[in-house]
Amino acid sequence: MQKRHLLVAAAAALVAGMLPAAAQTFPSRPVTMIIPFAAGGPTDVVARIVAESMSKALGQAIVIENVAGAGGTTGSTRLTTAQPDGHTIMIGHTGTHAASVALYPNLRYHPVNDFSPIGLVNTNAILLTAKKTLPPNNLTEFVAWLKANERTANNAHAGIGSVSHTTCLLLHAIIGVKPQSVPYRGTGPAMNDLVAGQVDYLCDQVVNVAPQVRAGTIKAFAVAQQSRNAALPDVPTTTEAGLPAYQVVVWNAMLAPKGTPEPVIAKLNEALRAALADPNVKARLTELGADLPEASLATPAGLRAFIEAEIAKWTPVIRAAGVTASN
Ligand code: ASP
Repeated sequence: MQKRHLLVAAAAALVAGMLPAAAQTFPSRPVTMIIPFAAGGPTDVVARIVAESMSKALGQAIVIENVAGAGGTTGSTRLTTAQPDGHTIMIGHTGTHAASVALYPNLRYHPVNDFSPIGLVNTNAILLTAKKTLPPNNLTEFVAWLKANERTANNAHAGIGSVSHTTCLLLHAIIGVKPQSVPYRGTGPAMNDLVAGQVDYLCDQVVNVAPQVRAGTIKAFAVAQQSRNAALPDVPTTTEAGLPAYQVVVWNAMLAPKGTPEPVIAKLNEALRAALADPNVKARLTELGADLPEASLATPAGLRAFIEAEIAKWTPVIRAAGVTASN
């Protein structure tokens, strides 16, 4: 009996002793980054820019894997089953790691307890866009149109709980309407259908939207933030356009599976911060309209506290909207 205890203790000591060594050699092979939405959407675009720079700091390739579905909760669930050794990480966002708690009664993960946070990647403004043939030409006209066409208007989004879904829910709650919703596997494909005129409007991160607005293939009514967005200086803020109550900032965050060794998380965080300080990354993200996070949030502890606060912020908003997803 005593001998068995000794053996167990020796094995535990061996494993404990091996962890820092594993962290020292991390990453020993390419890192997989799960993106819980289709390619070509804002999460995917931001992730690819940051991953390219991070891979230089880590000395290994970062392979993007798009695991779309259920508003990003499918890809997030996938991460929780990955080996917690740092070789599989993900980019989540306001939807997958905050709004999902209230929206999915059977969510298979807890956004904080089942992950090891690495750091906040960026924040992003929401832009209200519409197909170019939609009759309204400004936000006031759009609100009137939506009220008059509530039963037939259709709102494209990236799945229940996605950012495009929840931020339009917020808009609907302010206006007092409940239009049709059309879910996609990401706002990349939703945007394609908006450009093709198959859906009426979309609340999306500026990152996915600026090129189409500049090209005139869609309309942009307002950006839901305090000041105009550098990527779209001609688009008014919601305050300027007459709907000051509609303000919403969303974010992307980098996470690893729960139990990933702390020295590995530290290495990933260092690489993330190096990427965010990379002038090329900064320039590309700014050009797309994304904002870099406060330094204190680009840390594991900062992100953990931030996600907890965001869950507390979004839960009552979603409960008040009376929406749930069945999964
Ligand atoms: N960020 C989008 C959303 O949640 C999805 C995407 O990146 O494709 O609406």
